[in-house]
Amino acid sequence: MINEDFPLIFERSKKGRISTNLPPLDVPVQKIEIEEQYIRNEPAELPEVSELELVRHYTGLSRRNFGIDSGFYPLGSCTMKYNPKINEDIAKLDGFTHLHPYQPIETVQGALEVLFSLQKSLEEITGMDSVSLQPAAGAHGEWTALMMIRAFHENNGDKNRTKVIIPDSAHGTNPASATVAGFESVTVKTNTDGLVDIDDLKRKVDENTAALMLTNPNTLGLFETEIMDIAHIIHDAGGKLYYDGANLNAIMGYVRPGDMGFDAVHLNLHKTFTGPHGGGGPGSGPIGVTAELEPYLPKPIIVKKQDLYMFDYERPKSIGRVKPYYGNFGINVRAYAYIRSMGAKGLKRVSEYAVLNANYMMRRLAKEFELPYPQHCKHEFVLSGKRQKKLGVRTLDIAKRILDYGFHPPTIYFPLNIEESLMIEPTETESKETLDEFIDTMFDIVADIKENPEIVQNAPHHTVVKRMDETTAARRPILKYEKSN
Ligand SMILES: *Cc1c(COP(=O)(O)O)cnc(C)c1O
Repeated sequence: MINEDFPLIFERSKKGRISTNLPPLDVPVQKIEIEEQYIRNEPAELPEVSELELVRHYTGLSRRNFGIDSGFYPLGSCTMKYNPKINEDIAKLDGFTHLHPYQPIETVQGALEVLFSLQKSLEEITGMDSVSLQPAAGAHGEWTALMMIRAFHENNGDKNRTKVIIPDSAHGTNPASATVAGFESVTVKTNTDGLVDIDDLKRKVDENTAALMLTNPNTLGLFETEIMDIAHIIHDAGGKLYYDGANLNAIMGYVRPGDMGFDAVHLNLHKTFTGPHGGGGPGSGPIGVTAELEPYLPKPIIVKKQDLYMFDYERPKSIGRVKPYYGNFGINVRAYAYIRSMGAKGLKRVSEYAVLNANYMMRRLAKEFELPYPQHCKHEFVLSGKRQKKLGVRTLDIAKRILDYGFHPPTIYFPLNIEESLMIEPTETESKETLDEFIDTMFDIVADIKENPEIVQNAPHHTVVKRMDETTAARRPILKYEKSN
């Protein structure tokens, strides 16, 4: 809005600071004296550009980025589904964005109602008794729940439960969370069908078992059909069953972790429930637990007393707070909007389409790629690039070549128990045309591998950045701005 009586003037001081003629804010400002030695002698060398040039600069940079809004992103295990734009509009409402965490509780009742209702929805979806929205991501949820399981055992005088059993196909965050929570991780093998090897599990379970961490369907995209037996084996030994909910997209509305015998779960709202992700977050990794573990939930929890939503801090057995304030609020709002707009039937259909899309792609791609586990998959599947490796082209090369066609590559070299693995998760939000385009691209790449392998070995050819020295980039990243010539 333009106020003719009060044109806004920006001024740059000799020292490069920008000031305006806006009246001062009605808040006490603490003046900070900067010591002489820290003050610039020269104004900063900021480029003098017009607004248009600046807009072009940032628009150009944003085009170099790749996201689900720019193309197909079949990154296995990450559930890169479409993020409906209406969720953004809802999360952006003034009533949500103009809140302060220290506002009196009576003035944030709407926000608390959304969180409370989201917890109730997630309890129903997972079959758990209580949910906390505090953890900021999946890995954080894993750690939180393991700390609770630890507190539970210790509270029962069970001080020797030091081991957490984890399948060899598990996501790397599982053993990492177990270690950070102070446990020793014990690996259980995968059998020839791609499922937990029950005999090996029986050998690994003992009176020191604190928990088994499992995702179902597992990271190979296969449903653990023996799950009830697995639950009995762990429970009989006095351990708890932890559900890594990153693969929930495959089974929503069909099976609930609670009904499969799990005692604690985390969900990745930024995967299954359409929170935008990639680029490092923010995520949201709520945990759900059975009544037995409920007293150990992080505090505070949101409760409803009479008609007032409030935070309950009177939780003597709680493991304490795991995040400032109460979770990543905006992501939780998006997830709630998604759940309410889909409804129970809609969420069930999500899983049906996710599974259908994955099986369609798997069967077509199996013409050229080795399929280690030929049974039907759930929401994702794993191929092996073994045949292509014999021709001198590795899975990494194939992934780089996919970039030239404008797709994000699948997850590669994970799970670790499959040689030259490619892990593909199409999600339910892609059309058959997109799936076919990707499959045909994979066939084009295979044709090149047979006739013209250099083009794949030296890929990518059409990206801004060519192949990187990934080890150096990971070990010695350059994080400082450097002036280009
Ligand atoms: C993504 C993922 C995790 C970790 O979740 P974050 O939200 O990335 O911390 C754990 N397990 C599996 C199987 C996953 O795919």
